[in-house]
Amino acid sequence: MTAYVEDDISPKTKMSPYVEDFMADVKAKNPAEPEFHQAVFEVAESVSIVLERHPEYRSAKILERMVEPERLIMFRVPWVDDRGEVRVNRGFRIEMNSALGPYKGGLRFHPSVNLGILKFLAFEQVFKNSLTTLPMGGGKGGSDFDPKGKSNTEIMRFCQAFMAELFRHIGPDTDVPAGDIGVGGREIGYLFGMYKKLRNEFTGVLTGKGLNWGGSLIRPEATGYGAVYFAAEMLTTRSQTLEGKVCLVSGSGNVAQYTVEKLLHLGARVVTLSDSNGYIYDEEGIDRAKLDFILELKNVRRGRIAEYTEKFKSAVYTPFSPGAEHNPLWDHKADCAFPSATQNEINARDAKNLLKNGVFVVSEGANMPTTIGGVNQFLEAGILYAPGKAANAGGVATSGLEMSQNSMRLAWSRSEVDQKLHGIMKRIHETCVEMAARFGTPGNYVNGANIGGFLKVADAMMDQGVV
Ligand code: NDP
Repeated sequence: MTAYVEDDISPKTKMSPYVEDFMADVKAKNPAEPEFHQAVFEVAESVSIVLERHPEYRSAKILERMVEPERLIMFRVPWVDDRGEVRVNRGFRIEMNSALGPYKGGLRFHPSVNLGILKFLAFEQVFKNSLTTLPMGGGKGGSDFDPKGKSNTEIMRFCQAFMAELFRHIGPDTDVPAGDIGVGGREIGYLFGMYKKLRNEFTGVLTGKGLNWGGSLIRPEATGYGAVYFAAEMLTTRSQTLEGKVCLVSGSGNVAQYTVEKLLHLGARVVTLSDSNGYIYDEEGIDRAKLDFILELKNVRRGRIAEYTEKFKSAVYTPFSPGAEHNPLWDHKADCAFPSATQNEINARDAKNLLKNGVFVVSEGANMPTTIGGVNQFLEAGILYAPGKAANAGGVATSGLEMSQNSMRLAWSRSEVDQKLHGIMKRIHETCVEMAARFGTPGNYVNGANIGGFLKVADAMMDQGVV
């Protein structure tokens, strides 16, 4: 993956004096957290019109309160590797906002994890969870632990050491973590096992659990499926479908895999996938058999995407060069793009390349994969652009459904959960369209998602007083 020079985090458009002062304060109080500044800036820009129309939110300092985590937990995670050496990692949980329900959001295990990245993710999560209409507050957590190259027992020991501290801060009515980058079904299993042992309780404290011990059908698929459902909804506004559309997908983890699966169901052609080392371009398209190879490669053998070209000669592998100023994955002819790897993987130049190549639908499976400069390009071009907090909300929505099933101690069928997920994605789409129009920017899904997410949390905070 390219290491981006931050292209243009400052906006082309002039900031209102309120947003300018607010951002200066956020930057001064949270130095060296560029991703957090980026996420906050995007929301502040969108909701500045709401604050103008509703001075009561401003005098109650709603936005100023939203950028301060309600609680921030940072802890030491010591563990012993297979050679008997002691390793020390850093663990975090950001309990950002509980106005709408227990804190809810994933855990990320990746060497790039730091406070600023988790704060941006927790902040985004608050608005995303609000959009789902389910009763969930926002949080996020994780560690700078790198799962790559670790044995299964090392992963287990790390998860147990991580939970040995986290358990005292979470609970089914307090804070309910889930997976994210580097945390899938295997890690949730080890984390849950340790929680259960320490608390002597079998509760729905984590989501993304195994099917035979409280997990929900469709949870693994939900984020990818949801991002595709959202793209399909956007296309219906132009009387089009995904049938026959050429799609670029990045990443090859949980979100990317199920994005490809749903795109195949709907008759689209997917031509790219990637990991942090490089990407494959398969002009003939990644079909069901090729996707099965990827599932086995990534979920069982935990190999690299480059191996795809050894098996399928129609594909070309291109390694990412460190320090490159653009990502070549986004420079192919296509109709739709589904960034599903990580933050800031599309910069302004990549966005220009996408537009030049005919892409007119972007549905973000990853969180904040597009820089502010890239977002401005999409908005100016007037394409169907869905920000992650709307497009990838299907994952947490289905986690919310898993929590409901756990509380009721029953399990819904695959089709029941899928229907509910589809319904939620449609409603999020409607909210975005309606809010964008109501506040004067029809078709702008960024404003629609930010305003729709903000209003519900803001009203709950007003009702609950200054806490
Ligand atoms: P996985 O760990 O399953 O997969 C992540 C994929 O992205 C891998 O292919 C990985 O490559 C690649 N990747 C990760 N970090 C980087 C990096 N710094 N540079 C380049 N490539 C990278 O994670 P998920 O699929 O769960 O998550 C992907 C994105 O979707 C994240 O932004 C996450 O926050 C977001 N998301 C996930 C949800 C979920 O339900 N899982 C819900 C909503 C959003 P490699 O294997 O080489 O590291």
